[in-house]
Amino acid sequence: MRRLLLALPFALLPLAVAHAAVEHDHDHDEHGSLSAHEHGVGRLNAALDGQTLELELESPAMNLVGFEHAATTDADKAKVAVVRAQLEKPLVLFNLPKAAGCVVATQELESPLFGDKPDADDHDEEDAKDGHEHHQDHSEIHAHYQFSCSAPGALKTLDLANIFNTFPATQKVQVQLISPSGQQGVEVTAKAAALKF
Ligand SMILES: [Zn+2]
Repeated sequence: MRRLLLALPFALLPLAVAHAAVEHDHDHDEHGSLSAHEHGVGRLNAALDGQTLELELESPAMNLVGFEHAATTDADKAKVAVVRAQLEKPLVLFNLPKAAGCVVATQELESPLFGDKPDADDHDEEDAKDGHEHHQDHSEIHAHYQFSCSAPGALKTLDLANIFNTFPATQKVQVQLISPSGQQGVEVTAKAAALKF
């Protein structure tokens, strides 16, 4: 099963969030609409099933690279390349304990900033004519990883400290975690960056 997360009942999770007594103040809808993302707020779906750990990070590009327009200048392109390289090292980024013996099985990065075609590509020129600070064109970066872990019992906590250290514009990450101990919805911040599996 390649995309474990999609097969899991995320529709049930708002209930889990309520039970966890977590502040639930984001105002975008629960269906992952990209139109209403909030800068500073990332989302992470995590699922641990047997030896398979799946992580899906969805973030406004602003949090990671500091802008959301297509990179045109050399400086912008360099910034995007740095971020991409960081996202290509998920074992470091997610601080997975060596004892768990996790290796990356698949990883996939998606973003208009990585050259993935947006739905309509005509508007870029219009934006350029109009000026710079138009925020109707939000861009996200999605990173999807699947790990195979030989000793998943060693996965005691999911520690996002390196996410906050690496991408300091990230203020909080809304985590939805499914593990053998159940489902949790937790809002994680740099000050409290770890949660239990
Ligand atoms: Zn945005």
